[in-house]
Amino acid sequence: MDRLEQPLPCISVHSLTGCAGEELVILENLQKALPLVRVVSFPFAQSANEMRPVDIAFVEGSVSQPHDLEKLKAIRATARWLVAVGNCAVWGCVQGGVCRRFTPEQMARDVYGQDNQIAALPSAPLDKYVRVDVKLSGCPIDAGQFLSVLASLLKDHLPYITHKPVCLECKLKENGCVLVEKNLPCLGPITAAGCGALCPTFGAACYGCWGPCEAPQMEAMEIVLKEKGYAIDEVISRLTAFGIPQEIYSRDKPLELKVSRQ
Ligand code: SF4
Ligand code: SF4
Repeated sequence: MDRLEQPLPCISVHSLTGCAGEELVILENLQKALPLVRVVSFPFAQSANEMRPVDIAFVEGSVSQPHDLEKLKAIRATARWLVAVGNCAVWGCVQGGVCRRFTPEQMARDVYGQDNQIAALPSAPLDKYVRVDVKLSGCPIDAGQFLSVLASLLKDHLPYITHKPVCLECKLKENGCVLVEKNLPCLGPITAAGCGALCPTFGAACYGCWGPCEAPQMEAMEIVLKEKGYAIDEVISRLTAFGIPQEIYSRDKPLELKVSRQ
C-alpha cells in the first residue's frame, strides 16, 4: 500500500477535573499535527466524537470525582499510549494540594452545604489509578513540548522530557537571579524546567507550576526561603500549591514541613 493511502494514526484528547488549559494549548497547535493524525475524540473542540481504539490519548485534569475515574479507565482501555498532560494530570495541581489540608467531604460541605449529594474523591493524578506512559507537566503545558511528545510517539518511541530545574533554563537565558538579586521567593531550584524560565525572565519568582524537578532539594529550598525572611506557612503554601507530593517535600524534614490532611 502506498504510504499516502495508509490510515492515519488516531489520537484523542480528554479532560477530567481541570481548567481546560491543556486542551486550549493542544487546540491552538493542532493545525501543525493534523496532516499526520486523525482526531477521533476531542469533545472540547468537536461535536462528532467516538470512543474507539486510538494510538495516543492525551488526558488533562485530575481524578476528583467517580465519573472522572470511570472515564479514565475507559480511555486507558482504548489507548496504546496514554499521555498525562498538565500539572493536574501529572501531580494533582491546586486541587491536589488543597486535598492535603481538607477532605473532599469538608470541602463539599463548606461550599454546597450540609445536605449536599456531592460524591468527590481526594483529587489525585492519573497514575494513582492507571498506567501512564508519558507525563508532560505544565500549567498549562508548553506547545513545543506537546508537539515534541506527539512527534516521538508517532515515531513509536518514548519522548525525552527534561526534569532539570527551571534554574537551568534561567541561566541559559542569562537572566539575573530574582532569588539572589531581588530576594523574591523563587522556586526555580526545585521546579521542573519546560517553560523556558518564563516568570524569572519577566522579573517574577517561579511559583512551581510545572511540579517538582528530579531530586528536588526541598530542605535547602526551605532554608533559603526562611533566610530571605519568608514565614514557614508561606513556604509550605508555595511548596504545596501545585500538588507536590508529601513524600517529596516532607522526605528529609517531616516535622517542620508536614501539612496533615484533617
Ligand atoms: S531566578 Fe529563580 S529560576 Fe532563575 S536562577 Fe534564580 S532561583 Fe533559579
Ligand atoms: S517559571 Fe515557574 S511558575 Fe513560571 S511558568 Fe515556569 S514553572 Fe511555572
